[in-house]
Amino acid sequence: MSTTNKSSATDTRFSFEFFPPKTDVGVQKLALVHKQLALLNPDFFSVTYGAGGSTRDGTRQAVLNIHNSGSNAAPHLSFGGSSEQEIVSLINDYKSLGINRLVALRGDIPSGTGGTNSFYYANELIELIRRHTGDHFHIEVACYPEIHPKSDSFDSDIHYFKKKVDAGANSAITQYFYNPEAYFYYVESARAAGIEVPIVPGIMPITNYTSLARFSTNCGAEIPRWMRQRLQSYGDDTQSIQAFGIEVVTQLCEKLLEGGAPGLHFYTMNQDGPVSAIWNNLRLSEK
Ligand code: FAD
Repeated sequence: MSTTNKSSATDTRFSFEFFPPKTDVGVQKLALVHKQLALLNPDFFSVTYGAGGSTRDGTRQAVLNIHNSGSNAAPHLSFGGSSEQEIVSLINDYKSLGINRLVALRGDIPSGTGGTNSFYYANELIELIRRHTGDHFHIEVACYPEIHPKSDSFDSDIHYFKKKVDAGANSAITQYFYNPEAYFYYVESARAAGIEVPIVPGIMPITNYTSLARFSTNCGAEIPRWMRQRLQSYGDDTQSIQAFGIEVVTQLCEKLLEGGAPGLHFYTMNQDGPVSAIWNNLRLSEK
């Protein structure tokens, strides 16, 4: 099925990320969430790929459902424990289905593997994709304004980011952050290092403080102290947490767009409510 791309006058791009549901109820719920968010006419929806390839079929199915309902879909992809042959076959499969965008990652290494699983850095995956499918795919990569938790230094982070671009990445999506200065400084440093691709901020709406705090510790994203204090003060009052979250994340998005960010990529956590509220606050449908 052919798909249409939103092209705004300013070329600002917007995308929404889902994770593949594990149950039939989850699949039905995601179809409804996708339907709601498709009304906002984003450039594409991406679907994550579980650590170690654990969601290989689920990711493919969710991507197909999105693609078949008329939206552009971008599967995330990493080696996990798969062989090169398996990955090439998955890439060719996506190509034959008419998918033309991939998010290429090293992926998180599943716990309990004792580090014995073979894994490939993202630049190696990009080289493989380019070797087998030329320029067919627009390749997105991940980058980290607050630095990947395993990076040796800021400079080494930028160095390996550049390696992914040199291998053929077309654009990048950042890990989420709540400090816009971290993003602007990172973009400036990337430009100084010769990285010219668009760097799109990843935006995480706030719906649950406990899970956000846990996840942020793992992925190296900082929740500023003033936000932490405020969120903690709400205790179990989820309505207040969500209202505060929508307010601060709207302000963050405003600063990013005003400061020249080329778009926004929302980590939806398979919910349409918070993203739609932020979208409406930003009046993005009117632009
Ligand atoms: P790389 O770019 O390969 O970097 C990983 C680390 O190794 C960095 O510290 C880097 O500095 C270093 N490094 C990079 N290349 C080399 C090299 N050649 N030699 C030595 N060191 C090197 N995880 C999932 O499991 N599934 C997903 O779907 C998923 N989607 C994501 C989407 C986005 C937008 C983001 C920001 C993250 C996502 N992640 C996902 C998390 C991501 O997989 C982890 O952060 C992972 O630890 C790193 O992946 P990467 O592609 O950035 O790795």
